[in-house]
Amino acid sequence: MQPLDPAEIRASFVNCSRGEAKSITLPADIPWEKRDFLGWRDVKAPGRAYLVVPRGDEVIGLSLRAAAPPKSRLRSNICAFCTTTHPLADITLFSARLAGKAGRDGNTVGTYLCSDLACSAYLRGELKPAVPQPKETLSEEERVERMNEKIGRFVARVLETR
Ligand SMILES: [Zn+2]
Repeated sequence: MQPLDPAEIRASFVNCSRGEAKSITLPADIPWEKRDFLGWRDVKAPGRAYLVVPRGDEVIGLSLRAAAPPKSRLRSNICAFCTTTHPLADITLFSARLAGKAGRDGNTVGTYLCSDLACSAYLRGELKPAVPQPKETLSEEERVERMNEKIGRFVARVLETR
């Protein structure tokens, strides 16, 4: 993705207050050319996470809340963005407040994702998940494309109420 400066990142958020956008701890040392979107956990506020996603000429920032680890009998789960299979501890339910009034009224949309939101790094083999992956016939490029489509749909759901 195209590099963004801190002011551009803070200005991109569509589902939180300006005050919250100002208080976000930004990630450091981003390898922009190897990232399709930014996703990070707030090191100073572990329940908070953020996505910054290119969308046409725009960049859309989403503030997320991370749920506590699930109590489930499943041993593993799949990230809804990058389709990486992880042990349950490495998957987190994230919820995003909808944009606009719907969000201020408390409406959210949730999805299960890589706990560290490092989807781009998993797809490029920079990070290895802790469990073996099912065989896939898609190339890396096709998998990145599929991820971008899924992220686009998630962002669209948040923006529907903008
Ligand atoms: Zn992922």
